[in-house]
Amino acid sequence: MSMFKTPETYKGPIDPDGGFLCFVTCWRPRAGEDDADTPGEKLQMSSYIPVAPDHVCLCGSGKTFGACCQPKRLWYPVCPNPGIPGEVGYSLLKVQSATFTNVDGASVRAALMDDLRLHCAEDTLERAFWIYEGAPFIQTPHGIMCFGDIELQHNHTLHITALSALRMRILLELLREDCGDLGRPKMKYDPVQVIDKRTGKSVTLQQEAPASPAARGRRRKR
Ligand SMILES: [Zn+2]
Repeated sequence: MSMFKTPETYKGPIDPDGGFLCFVTCWRPRAGEDDADTPGEKLQMSSYIPVAPDHVCLCGSGKTFGACCQPKRLWYPVCPNPGIPGEVGYSLLKVQSATFTNVDGASVRAALMDDLRLHCAEDTLERAFWIYEGAPFIQTPHGIMCFGDIELQHNHTLHITALSALRMRILLELLREDCGDLGRPKMKYDPVQVIDKRTGKSVTLQQEAPASPAARGRRRKR
C-alpha cells in the first residue's frame, strides 16, 4: 500500500478491514508569486481513518461498518462532507462532472463572482475558474478544503466537477440559486479506483449513472 501516504494524525497500520481511505482536496495560496491567491495551488491528499466494526459505516449507508463495507471484497475510498448542514460525515468517492452549454457567460460570471462560497482562482476571457469552499470554509493544515470546481469556458460553457454525488448536488443547487435554471447538464461519471482487499491490487470500476437523478427530489431552499 505504498501508493498511499499515511496521514500525519494516524500512526498505526493501514488495514482495509479496519477502516477507510479518505480523499481530500485542499487549496492554498502559492508562496512567492506576485498574486499568491490566483491561481494558488491545489493539493490532493489521502489519509486513513480507522473505524470500529460497531461504528457507523463511512460510506453513508447508515449501517455499521461490520455489517456494511468491512466484509466487502473491494475497498472503496470516501471523501468528507464537513460544513454541509444535515450532511455530516463522509460519502463514497464518485468523481463526476456536469456540463452546461450555451450559457449567458457574462451574467453567470457576475453571479458567481458575488457568491462568498466560491473562491475565484482564475479570471480571463477564455476561462474563469472557481473553487467551492463552502461558507464558512474549512481550514486544514494543508490549506482550505475544496469540495468542487466550477469552470466557465469561452464565456459559454459551464463545467462543474465534484468528488461525490452529494457534492455535485450541492454545487448544482448553488448554481440554480445564483444563476437560475441553466437547463439540463450533460453528466459524466469518471471511473473509480478501488482496491481488491485480497490481492492488494488497484481495480478500475466504471461508475454507473444514477437511474434518474431528477426523480430523487431537490432539497428546499432555505
Ligand atoms: Zn459501508
